[in-house]
Amino acid sequence: MSQLELIPTATPAPDSASVERPRPGSRADRMRKPLARDALKQLAEQHGVCVRPLALRRTDTATGVTEVVEVPCGATLAAKCKPCAERGRRLRIQQIREGWHLADEPAVRPDKPGEDVLALARVRAHLEFEREAVQYQPMTPDERVAHLAEIDAAIAELDEALAETSLRGHLTPKDRDERPRRKRSTRRRQDSPDLPRLPVDPRTVGRAYSGKTGKTHRPSMLVTLTLGSHGPVHSHLRRGPYIAPCECGQRHGPHDDVLGTPVDPTTYDYRRAALDAIHFARVLDRWWQNVRRAAGWNVQYAGAVELQRRLAPHAHFAIRGTLPRRLLKQIAAATYHQVWWPSFNEPVYSVDKPPVWDVDQQAYVDPKTRAPPPTWGEALDALEEPDSRPAYVARLGRIDARGIEQGTRDAERSIRYVTKYVTKDLTDQAKPRSDAQKAHFDRLHAELSVLPCSPTCANWLLYGVQPDGVKAGLTPGGCTGKVHQRSTLGFTGRRVLVSRQWSGKTLADHRADNRSWVRAILAGGMADTEEHDQAAADEADGSTRYRFELARPEDPDVPPLEHRLLRAISARIRWRADLDTARQRTAGAVSATAAPLSPAVR
Ligand SMILES: [Zn+2]
Ligand SMILES: [Zn+2]
Ligand SMILES: [Zn+2]
Repeated sequence: MSQLELIPTATPAPDSASVERPRPGSRADRMRKPLARDALKQLAEQHGVCVRPLALRRTDTATGVTEVVEVPCGATLAAKCKPCAERGRRLRIQQIREGWHLADEPAVRPDKPGEDVLALARVRAHLEFEREAVQYQPMTPDERVAHLAEIDAAIAELDEALAETSLRGHLTPKDRDERPRRKRSTRRRQDSPDLPRLPVDPRTVGRAYSGKTGKTHRPSMLVTLTLGSHGPVHSHLRRGPYIAPCECGQRHGPHDDVLGTPVDPTTYDYRRAALDAIHFARVLDRWWQNVRRAAGWNVQYAGAVELQRRLAPHAHFAIRGTLPRRLLKQIAAATYHQVWWPSFNEPVYSVDKPPVWDVDQQAYVDPKTRAPPPTWGEALDALEEPDSRPAYVARLGRIDARGIEQGTRDAERSIRYVTKYVTKDLTDQAKPRSDAQKAHFDRLHAELSVLPCSPTCANWLLYGVQPDGVKAGLTPGGCTGKVHQRSTLGFTGRRVLVSRQWSGKTLADHRADNRSWVRAILAGGMADTEEHDQAAADEADGSTRYRFELARPEDPDVPPLEHRLLRAISARIRWRADLDTARQRTAGAVSATAAPLSPAVR
């Protein structure tokens, strides 16, 4: 595809002697022509039209009329749909901008649940009681299974009904945990680092200061959280106009092939690098808990996780308000996450000769002795011993903090910086470009493939423990968990982290804001040519007039994707022209509000 794009076909090369052109009409000539499919996709991307829109069937419950409407796919990764991912990124930018220097507390006061919701929840409570009662009522095991299945079906139906109400979130966790609750000793929960500990004030807004000229300053911060060193890596070190020597003694340019790779691969701690990546999300959680406790107010943040060149995840956050830098450093030094898993320091078995499944014992057994290693439960029980230690402790390494002033270019630049890579896969921005970088990537990935990703990971067999929920067919080294994949390199947490009271709005709210602004300009005229906008807005209103379901591609009233794309592109071009005209007409009136909002609708 990319090669075809490079070849101009509309205008023949002026100097045809220098380029060997295939005979017109030959197969080679046909193969050079641009693909219609690519042209359509490129056009859609140019005009910001979703390249794989979903067709939804909308049924008007008042009139019974059904109609096919389109909604953008809403992908967050550019690899899936560039226009949608870009739109998502611009909304993120808008969200961060709006929340960063808020002067008033964002209003997030949910409504009281209505009687309809409470009635459903009441029935749900009875079902839960019945489900528990089945365990104790006298009946045969088969009867019990049948009874449970019945109740679970009823619960599933009720949960669906609840999902259609205005209720936000879920009453119960998604998956039912059938195992008996394990009592953890309180010693485990200590986890409290040596930090000042203040009661957390509900305030989320930073302090304002009055300047000499009477202007109010509302300073805030940009922080970068980085994992500790796993061994020295080749680095480009700039000291003003000079390049300082790297650990290896050489001076590396900014595009040197060895950048980010270990100075000494044999001593680089790949195990810790892998484990830190796996548990980084939890470390971040702890960090924010610690920050709030030590600061004594409900500190709000918005940021994103990225991969450093050495392939370690790190995070940039905008923080509302300021904290003393010394305190931040102290908190970073004291932040850690303990992994209370069975020990997995030394492998007991290799990937080539792992324990084998024994049907009679319903357990994995040593291939020679046929003795089963301890079960997950037994291994956890052993952790209750007074002298047991966590299997791993992940720590935060360094923090860099900068003060940012509201409304400055610095603030705007920081927002772009934080959101720069959110439409890319985590590993996309750290793609290895040289053999050295590729070797480093592969070595880290190899380490990740034999570490346990979760209690149910097949890799536990390598460390002589039966995984939780053990079953036949587990392949150590072949666990399909996300942690082990090349696209994550261990980090499977959320890429974008925005605290609940950042702007008091969700991304969907910001999207709706933009839409109402566009509607206001167009005064209702053309805004509705974008049917999917209307459909989504109706949904956002919580209006129950329409019911939505996915339309099937083979339905007679669903045109082929290509036709739908062409129409959407045309609609977008006309709509944009109308918007431009309207904008010019109302330029004076709107200019005050247009500035902060326009990037998201462009
Ligand atoms: Zn899309
Ligand atoms: Zn070096
Ligand atoms: Zn796994």
